[in-house]
Amino acid sequence: MSATLLMGKPIADKINEQIKKDLFEIKEKYDIVPSLVSVLVGSDLASKSYSGRQKKSADAIGIKYELHELPEDTNEEDLLKFISQLNDDPQVNGIIIQLPLPKGIDEHKIQSAIAMKKDVEGITPANMGLIVYERPKLCPCTALSAVKLIESVGADIFGKNLTVVGRSAIVGKPVALLMLQRKFSSTVTVCHTGTAKAGTLPYHVSNADVLVVAAGSPELIKGDWIKEGAIVVDVGFNVINGKTVGDVEFEIAKEKASYITPVPGGVGPLTVSILLQNTVEATKWQLEDKTI
Ligand code: NAP
Repeated sequence: MSATLLMGKPIADKINEQIKKDLFEIKEKYDIVPSLVSVLVGSDLASKSYSGRQKKSADAIGIKYELHELPEDTNEEDLLKFISQLNDDPQVNGIIIQLPLPKGIDEHKIQSAIAMKKDVEGITPANMGLIVYERPKLCPCTALSAVKLIESVGADIFGKNLTVVGRSAIVGKPVALLMLQRKFSSTVTVCHTGTAKAGTLPYHVSNADVLVVAAGSPELIKGDWIKEGAIVVDVGFNVINGKTVGDVEFEIAKEKASYITPVPGGVGPLTVSILLQNTVEATKWQLEDKTI
């Protein structure tokens, strides 16, 4: 039997409804409209278009969104100073640094400079650390989107095998850590290129009751590796000859899985909603906890 498609949009719609309620409460209680600042260094076209989509969604929901474009020759020191100003500005509730940054600028150093409570992409070491301690506040948007999709199935995953393919700091690792939390208690395996070299990727995939793939390698995961009845979340986004495909061989996988995300339409539509939700959470954190 063919799998049920796990679509991002219905979940995004629910999140957006909650955001609107939260925005109303924040306005009533503090007379504040949360604001998001996006920093783009140089003229990367994909980042500009991504930023445009973020602005459209923010405007539609009632969050202020401002894009700051800095020249291509901005150096690391100047960018750090700019971030420090945004950190200190009480009018700014969330900061996004559009990637890639020009050569010569250390991305990790720049991302780490964002104030923890304004880190709406959940990428600072401080927010990552809170996930390790099972006290997540602001989580990486794509990782949290994958988790929301798994949760939306409502299946009992306690103790079940969850395999994550990919160990990036913004997707694979945070998905693994979030799903390790006691409330999910999945038995987590994380695969990477070492796993592929060892030839055990099919083994780990075929053991997975829940599979999350974030490798950036088109149709890396063969459909016949999928366990019968598995929940499959494909984070991969690859454009091949003008066609968008995921990291999972969808047509075959959907005949084995019970639930599967299509690419596009699965994870993608959720990520901006999570970013806006994080902006609301960040604003509340700033308003309600002045200790840090
Ligand atoms: P990344 O930083 O390039 O990390 C890819 C990970 O996959 C690495 O850990 C790598 O292993 C592993 N990997 C790559 N090829 C592999 C192979 N053949 N076998 C086993 N493991 C392999 O990528 P990312 O930023 O996490 O993104 C992953 C994918 O998600 C990309 O397609 C990206 O476009 C997509 N994405 C989508 C969204 C969305 O909103 N839909 C958002 C973010 C990312 P090593 O660590 O050993 O190198």
